[in-house]
Amino acid sequence: METAVQISKAELALEQFIILIKSISLVDIFDVLIVAFLVYKLITFISETRAGQLIKGVIAVIVLYLFADIFNFKMLETVLKLAVTYGSFALIVVFQPELRKVLEQMGRTTIDSFQVFTPSSESIEKQKNEIRIMINAITEAVAQMSIEHTGALIVIERTTKLGDIIGTGTVIDAIPSSELIQNIFFHNSPLHDGAMIMRNNKLYAGGCYLPLSQNYEISRSLGTRHRAGLGISEVSDSCVIIVSEETGHISVAENGKITTDLGESKLKTMLYRKLMPIEETEKNKSINIIKESFEKTKGKIKTKINFKKQNDDTK
Ligand code: ATP
Ligand code: MG
Repeated sequence: METAVQISKAELALEQFIILIKSISLVDIFDVLIVAFLVYKLITFISETRAGQLIKGVIAVIVLYLFADIFNFKMLETVLKLAVTYGSFALIVVFQPELRKVLEQMGRTTIDSFQVFTPSSESIEKQKNEIRIMINAITEAVAQMSIEHTGALIVIERTTKLGDIIGTGTVIDAIPSSELIQNIFFHNSPLHDGAMIMRNNKLYAGGCYLPLSQNYEISRSLGTRHRAGLGISEVSDSCVIIVSEETGHISVAENGKITTDLGESKLKTMLYRKLMPIEETEKNKSINIIKESFEKTKGKIKTKINFKKQNDDTK
């Protein structure tokens, strides 16, 4: 008797589960995915920036406000209310760089994922050849400048356009070569001070002024050249190569993180990995894997529903 009740309970639960699955529409799935993406972005934003400290402060204010409310501390409550009203405007101003970074990142992700037109294989080959020429020129020049202790700062522009930065320097717009790069950073050459910008795989500008890093935790041993390289990598998706005049060390900054003391071959591999477009076949492979697993899950749910229907019919 008891086992019969248990079975019918289990059947009821299964039935409810199937109804629930059936009621999930494509809109619901998109809804959940968008919320999950936003929460993920918010968590990474909080963990990677000074916003972590801010969240602690906001929680402290909320706790204090609840405390004032419970014990009827009228004055404290009024002061906290005012602080929250005006404080929210102040926070937008103080955290403007972080907010800008998050919005820029979100814009980049959205544009990348909705790319409709795929370039022809011929233009991909042309682009790859240009990237190869640029990487070879940079690594060769950087290796030489590292030996000679010539300071250098090279920014490779990607999807975030650096027009305002280019405006602070001089446009060159030339095919990159190791000799040209070394010539520009050579001591006392007119454009040796500041950063070089690579745009569309060309040596586009020299002598550019970059924003300094907002990161207070970076090593004190890193001077303004490294801070400028790190700074532009915080507000854009560019890839930055730095050669230290003092030590000859080669570093790469990307997404607000700096990797120091790289050798020529490591730098070359890194640049190839970061800058070469992903093979279409590889992209398709990952899309196919997602499609296949989606179809499999759909099939499994269908057979379960059919099985349940058959059972109901025979009853
Ligand atoms: P190094 O290891 O080469 O000494 P560093 O990180 O210690 O580098 P500094 O010694 O301060 O930095 O380097 C100064 C040089 O860095 C300047 O002459 C200039 O070429 C470059 N530089 C400094 N600030 C900026 C900036 N905001 N934008 C572009 N280049 C900059
Ligand atoms: Mg220095």
